[in-house]
Amino acid sequence: MMCVICKLGMMIDDFASITLEFGETILVFKNVPAKVCNNCGEEYFEDNILASLFEQANSPINQLSQIQLRHFIKNELT
Ligand SMILES: [Zn+2]
Repeated sequence: MMCVICKLGMMIDDFASITLEFGETILVFKNVPAKVCNNCGEEYFEDNILASLFEQANSPINQLSQIQLRHFIKNELT
């Protein structure tokens, strides 16, 4: 798959971080499966990855602190 941004690089399977903000809370997911351009670094996430990520983000642990760092749990994919 060719990069839609720079049209030069190829999108390769990799992992990336996603930062979400909920009001005062900043939630950082690491190790999220992504396709990353080997030329410009553009990150592309599959819809089912994002859906699973938002589901994990909505769990009550959100309220514990203002900044959280989590590892994406791939086997929770539906
Ligand atoms: Zn690119």
